[in-house]
Amino acid sequence: MSAPRPQVRAILALGSNLGEREGTLQSAVADLVDRPEVRLHNVSPVVATKAIGGPLGQPDFLNMVIAIDTTLEPLELLAHCQAVELSHHRTREVRWGARTLDIDIISYGSVTSEDPVLTLPHPRAALRAFVLYPWSLMDPQATLAGASVAELAGAADDMAGIAHVQDVPLEQDS
Ligand code: AMP
Repeated sequence: MSAPRPQVRAILALGSNLGEREGTLQSAVADLVDRPEVRLHNVSPVVATKAIGGPLGQPDFLNMVIAIDTTLEPLELLAHCQAVELSHHRTREVRWGARTLDIDIISYGSVTSEDPVLTLPHPRAALRAFVLYPWSLMDPQATLAGASVAELAGAADDMAGIAHVQDVPLEQDS
């Protein structure tokens, strides 16, 4: 018998800018934790972020961050996140019209990786207020590669585009 795998704390960032955005985020979180190897630890508020670039009149992005404890290996977690993304992309065609869901692994314990398939911590997370700000609201003491997440959020160029914050009524067991 092999030894049980250790639980690792991972931070995931979720974003949606089409269709039932809040419902998409809520059901994505439920799907992400709907397996025994993933336990929800904490959930950030949802922030609305002005879409930068792309066609005019795009709806704001809704973004949020969750903390999970998982026994999945990093690449298993990536595959799980991609499967959840894909299942939401599939349902949009038949049910609610266009919608998108993006899920990024921001950090996985203290693991670092330069592999383009899974770069850890996420290479752009330290610059993105739509990741850093909800993360700092969820955990004011959080750090990313040794830097304060709240301070990184304050310095991020897109901080001015964060329109408002709303709480999302999700179950959590922390
Ligand atoms: P995107 O379409 O911007 O979400 O990028 C998805 C691609 O980024 C996939 O091919 C992933 O393999 C790769 N990737 C690299 N690092 C990460 C990460 N930390 N989280 C999620 N996807 C990643």
